[in-house]
Amino acid sequence: MIPAFNGRSNDFASYIPADNVIDGQIVKPSGTTTVDILNPRHGKAMSTVTFGTAADVDTAVASAQKAFADWKTWPIRERSQILYKARDIMLRDLEELTWLLSHENGKTYGESKAEVLKGIECLEYGCSLPNLAANESLEVSRGVNCEMRYEPLGVVAGVTPFNFPFMVPLWMLPQALAGGNAFILKPSEVVPLSALKLAAIFQEAGLPDGLLNIVQGGQEVVEALCDHPGIAALGFVGSTRVAKIVYGRAAATGKRALALGGAKNHLIVVPDADVKLTTENVVASFSGCAGQRCMAASVLLAVGDVDPIIDAVKAKTEAMVLGTDMGPVISQAAMERINGYIDDAEKRGATVLVDGRGAAGPDGGYWVGPTLLDNVSPDMPAGCEEIFGPVLSIIRVDTLEQAFTLENNSAYGNAAAIYTTSGHVAKLAMERVSAGMCGVNIGVPVPREPFGFGGWNDSKFGHGNMTGWDGFRFWTRPRKVTSKWALQKDWNWMA
Ligand code: NAD
Repeated sequence: MIPAFNGRSNDFASYIPADNVIDGQIVKPSGTTTVDILNPRHGKAMSTVTFGTAADVDTAVASAQKAFADWKTWPIRERSQILYKARDIMLRDLEELTWLLSHENGKTYGESKAEVLKGIECLEYGCSLPNLAANESLEVSRGVNCEMRYEPLGVVAGVTPFNFPFMVPLWMLPQALAGGNAFILKPSEVVPLSALKLAAIFQEAGLPDGLLNIVQGGQEVVEALCDHPGIAALGFVGSTRVAKIVYGRAAATGKRALALGGAKNHLIVVPDADVKLTTENVVASFSGCAGQRCMAASVLLAVGDVDPIIDAVKAKTEAMVLGTDMGPVISQAAMERINGYIDDAEKRGATVLVDGRGAAGPDGGYWVGPTLLDNVSPDMPAGCEEIFGPVLSIIRVDTLEQAFTLENNSAYGNAAAIYTTSGHVAKLAMERVSAGMCGVNIGVPVPREPFGFGGWNDSKFGHGNMTGWDGFRFWTRPRKVTSKWALQKDWNWMA
């Protein structure tokens, strides 16, 4: 259905147009807006995407409803066989997937490969669901039995961001499909190609047509998904501004909704922290994926005298090679926004320890070098807003208590971490920070499968987590069946 993607290096490559996938067919979206998909490393158009409309959502829902009627009757063990096959295909196509992702998002080869492998890990959780989701059953009183069944919701939808085009859809698809639903995916219009490849993989794995439809586009399609009466649940991952709108709009129509938002993650560094471990970790956390991760470090809360660590972080940051250690940012607009935060912080009195402004990659494109800002105050935009770029703001405090207060004051609550060699300090931090995903000497404390992914505060709207068992519960509804059978006089009719 979808031709192989041929990129095999950092060299520029072109791709097929990113159209819709409905009923297993590539279909031109019905909107009138067509935009270029730009390769961030080169700044050149590698494909185009035409925006879909509410009419495309109607078509996708009708196709999904038809496919759902049969799919819901499949035993979960049979559904999961398709996930196993999809996993094999992903491993077979690992190189192709890695380069596709690197081309459309700008990540380095290593970062892209890591994303594909993490996506596969999420899929593996889905493969294990027949074993995990065995119905619970109990004789609650003599002759009376209670049983819990997890049943599909029907047609469900997911809306995903630009920064993990392959992995984030796989936060939702395995649980939703294994749970017996039909899925409509609206990928980010900036990176719509990985979604096409995902559809091709599931089709090759034997997923019946209509169970994974893709509608390309932006706001109009998302609003249509929120409003559509034929869609039972919506998962969203993106910025807090949009997460809030989408959560409210979907919930207003009675849908089940879970919307993960943005972040401003704090790393607390105390004087007893291990210099080497902390340095490597802090730099990897704020510069990995060019800082475009919802788990990236954004603020370093330097408690007391941690200058040896800050000096080492500075030296390591200065040694980074653009294009090898770090890729570009997603777009011209992102580059200007990030540079704007650095300009603003400098104007307000912050010290630019390492300056990424004006960086250039080898082939054009959109680059900001890794940037360290010192003496940032918490009320500067660089100290409290999500920058979503490779910028670390150092805020100096005297006590651990002040560090906790600043972290707690952030509107967000995705991730937080402490660097220390003291068990007591680590324990205290894990009790006091206000974040859903916390690290001890780990700067990107992503809960690996089977632990669910999700933050607190303005980093998440809705209940539960996106992955793991919570994800399965989100995409299914429990039916409780209580049974009592009268004793039959003729029970021994076989005798
Ligand atoms: P975004 O919010 O701009 O877009 C996300 C999705 O929403 C896209 O599919 C987009 O088309 C759609 N959208 C955009 N504007 C909309 C509107 N007004 N109404 C309805 N839909 C709209 O986010 P992005 O720039 O693609 O991704 C970066 C953001 O995502 C960052 O804030 C990052 O922290 C966040 N993110 C969060 C997590 C998490 O797990 N919490 C994970 C990844 C990314």
